[in-house]
Amino acid sequence: MTGTQETRTGRRLLRPSRFDLGGPRVLFCVGLLVVLCMTGVCAAILYQARADALNRARETSSNLALLAERDIERNFELYDLSLQAAIDGLRDPEIRGSSVHLQRMALFDRAATARYLTGMLVLDAAGRIILDAAGDTPHPGNFSDMPYFTVHRDRPDLGLYVSDPFRSRLRDGKPTIALSRRISNPDGSFAGVVVIAVDLSYFRSLFGDLSLGAHGAVSLIGRDGIMIMRQPYDPRITGRDISKASTFHQFQTAPVGSFTETSSIDGVRRLYAFRNFPNLPLIVMVAEAESDIYAAWRARAIRIGAVMTVFGAAFIVLCVLLGRQHRERMRVQAELQKLARTDGLTGLYNRRTFDEILAREWRRAARTDGVMSLLFIDLDFFKAYNDSQGHQAGDDALAAVARCIRDTIRRPGDSAARYGGEEFVVVLPDTDEAGALMIAEAIRGRISDLAIRHATSPYGCVTASVGVACSRARRSDGTQSIVGAADGALYQAKHSGRNRVRALSGPICSNGFQAV
Ligand code: GH3
Ligand code: MG
Ligand code: MG
Repeated sequence: MTGTQETRTGRRLLRPSRFDLGGPRVLFCVGLLVVLCMTGVCAAILYQARADALNRARETSSNLALLAERDIERNFELYDLSLQAAIDGLRDPEIRGSSVHLQRMALFDRAATARYLTGMLVLDAAGRIILDAAGDTPHPGNFSDMPYFTVHRDRPDLGLYVSDPFRSRLRDGKPTIALSRRISNPDGSFAGVVVIAVDLSYFRSLFGDLSLGAHGAVSLIGRDGIMIMRQPYDPRITGRDISKASTFHQFQTAPVGSFTETSSIDGVRRLYAFRNFPNLPLIVMVAEAESDIYAAWRARAIRIGAVMTVFGAAFIVLCVLLGRQHRERMRVQAELQKLARTDGLTGLYNRRTFDEILAREWRRAARTDGVMSLLFIDLDFFKAYNDSQGHQAGDDALAAVARCIRDTIRRPGDSAARYGGEEFVVVLPDTDEAGALMIAEAIRGRISDLAIRHATSPYGCVTASVGVACSRARRSDGTQSIVGAADGALYQAKHSGRNRVRALSGPICSNGFQAV
């Protein structure tokens, strides 16, 4: 889309509009919009992919937590069955009456030789070992201070007890947890405990086989907040109380769940999936680091982002270049149009443009029943001037006279043109005869005031004669009437001695012009 521009002489020029659809600004905006839309779509897809990665990680961690829970529960159930079998055996007087060797054979089944089960003992009410699965000669020592002993002594109805981690006195301080049950006398009084010691390396090997990325973590925690095992393994962490940590508080909010939190142990932000064991005082937690969860997504996002940035920038640059090219084309087109409409020597409209303007203004005046005036300006004795001063001086004089005419007409609707040779025309819409005469006289006077020396003219300088025609336009009349009248008035001005203004006015029709 292009617009037109009015010059002071009423000249209409083609110029790129501010809202030109092919303009650089519009193209830039369109390009930017397209890039923004595509960026938005990409961002939405990447956001969804990020959410998917998180959901997948949550699912994987939850499944691993479930598997770990099932494995531990199944093993602990077997250990508990062994404990209960031992208690049942101890109640049997026949077994109680047999030798230590036979009692061991009867009470401790092959479970006592399981891989991570490091000991199975029967302690009497004083905490002394009375039976040891490891041999017929029990270790000396008293374990009445151990929690797995004291809890049963103090709480008859406890059932299975799972201890916090401790260093085994019998096995060189190896990290261990104990599973114990109370032995009661027939009257219900405390008779001792049966205890199984489980090496913590069982959990270590169980968790160590899980693949959870470079910064993942798996923990087994007592419900009292004591850390039993954590992978990555650090012996200093086993036995640590994390009951005050915010993660631990979240473990207590539901039997099963997941959340994102920064670890109190190593400061890594992780997605935690946890399960509270239904039948044991334990919590298993599987946590994948956010950096691991999003690693693949981040790499893809960076790749797509880079491609989008390059593509977007290239697209915008292309739009800007196209816009600039378009603006240049419009400028050239406007320039060509201007050249086609103007006279090269004087810069005024040429004859063809004058015809268009005159016809347009005539139609407009006919529509509004308005008047309009036309001036014909012809330089006096110009052939002689050319002959005496040369053609170049003649051209300079013509340009000076054109400037003079242009500077004299001031209304935006007024238009001046070079009619041909040393003749000029001025179209004055909505101008009555008095106004036209005033302008004609002003033009004539200013040309004379230019004082361009003209030795062979009786006036001594370049002068002009002006014919004025003023008419109320009617559609049925053509423009020839007003042109003919202005020409006729010019003829009269020439014959009256030149360097003067003459007018012919036609109030109604082409034949009605009268000399003024
Ligand atoms: P009059 O007072 O009757 O108008 O006499 P005149 O000599 O002006 O009229 P005429 O029509 O005989 O001559 C017009 C001259 O104008 C002819 C030519 O030498 C000169 N002329 C026309 N066009 C140009 C132009 O573009 N450049 C120059 N330098 N002279 C031009
Ligand atoms: Mg002439
Ligand atoms: Mg002339």
